[in-house]
Amino acid sequence: MAQNDLKETTPAASGSNKSIDANGASAVSGVQSALFPSYSRYPLNLVKGHGSWLWDDQGNRYLDFMSGLAVTNLGHAPEKVKEKVKAQLDELWHVSNLFQIPQQEKAAKLLTEVSCADVVFFCNSGAEANEAAIKLARRYYQKVKGEDRYEVITFTQSFHGRTLATLTATGQDKVKDGFLPLPAGFITVPMHDLEALKAAIGSNTAAIMLEMIQAEGGVYPADPSFVKEVAALCKEQGILLIIDEVQTGMGRTGTWYAHEQYGIEPDIFTSAKGIASGLPAGAMLAKEYLREAFTPGTHASTFGGNPVVTASIIATLETMKEENIPERAAKMGRYLTDRLREALKDEPFVKAIRGMGLIVGIECNGPVAELVTAGQKNKLLFVTAGPNVIRLLPNLKVSREEIDQAVDTLVALIAAHTAAKEEVK
Ligand SMILES: *Cc1c(COP(=O)(O)O)cnc(C)c1O
Repeated sequence: MAQNDLKETTPAASGSNKSIDANGASAVSGVQSALFPSYSRYPLNLVKGHGSWLWDDQGNRYLDFMSGLAVTNLGHAPEKVKEKVKAQLDELWHVSNLFQIPQQEKAAKLLTEVSCADVVFFCNSGAEANEAAIKLARRYYQKVKGEDRYEVITFTQSFHGRTLATLTATGQDKVKDGFLPLPAGFITVPMHDLEALKAAIGSNTAAIMLEMIQAEGGVYPADPSFVKEVAALCKEQGILLIIDEVQTGMGRTGTWYAHEQYGIEPDIFTSAKGIASGLPAGAMLAKEYLREAFTPGTHASTFGGNPVVTASIIATLETMKEENIPERAAKMGRYLTDRLREALKDEPFVKAIRGMGLIVGIECNGPVAELVTAGQKNKLLFVTAGPNVIRLLPNLKVSREEIDQAVDTLVALIAAHTAAKEEVK
């Protein structure tokens, strides 16, 4: 059997329990693995990365249009970040947050310089950043304002993480299945339904939390007029506005944070994925008036903002500033969507192309899992966002030539898929 014939090399093909998820990845029952089978994994073993390219253990080279899910925003192993992290590894790996951590101070300062935030809390993931945002909102009302507000309103099709609080905040039932009872204090209302939102607001409402683009939910940008109304409603009713920028932040959409393009300033927003170029880090960022809600001892993380990851955050932010990465992402995002729209305009399988900057969704008239595995066979890596949407997340330094190559491959894959379906008819 061919080494890179992905379907054939799946261990599951030889008879073990197998389930296929929306991405087309297969989960193999954990007989031979010491790992929980909680991920569906593609039978690809990637061993090396540089820029937009990844190599597997067979020496095959892949064009990476998923970036570890919006993480390696500067490409794989970006030079300046690598050097700073290596230098930090020579000095000090870890020190408790009981001490001063100058790298953490500097990373926070830089984040406040490129955004509307004034104060930052560092943690290790997107879910933890959202968890911190929820805790900050509750504590602000209960301890600073002395009001009994705790409820967080979120929206259908949203995604906010996998901890108990953040999966409860997530507006998709599949992430809650089997995890009852869920923590109290969350309400989900239909996205873009202002009346339902108003009806859900009560004297206990602490915050409204939303994404500027529902990325996991299918790459659906929020409607600008709705976002303005939500922001106005929050001001009017004294409710905190939390924007989850875990996927959309760090230049991905063409500005440092996507909410800038909506002309709003959230009270709290969260950042993770691309923040440290691939090292695990998250940040919860807030306005000055929220500072006093997190007094000493109220919230903590052992690893949060440790010297190595904050060295990476600093180098990532400095590189992004020096190279105007958000602007570049906007420009390349336009190039990518224009090319896709032109090349796919007569393709019957494609329903809509949408996105902001370098997060692009191609909504199709049917499941796209097979296209993802076909892409892998043709050495192009991308993911889905729900069953019918192809999601493209190239790194923000991707070249025109790489975009051209990815578009050509993708268009050919979709055409072949359509032709195969025609034949079945
Ligand atoms: C990925 C993601 C999260 C969760 O981040 P983790 O680092 O996996 O915990 C939360 N919100 C959004 C919008 C995300 O895309």
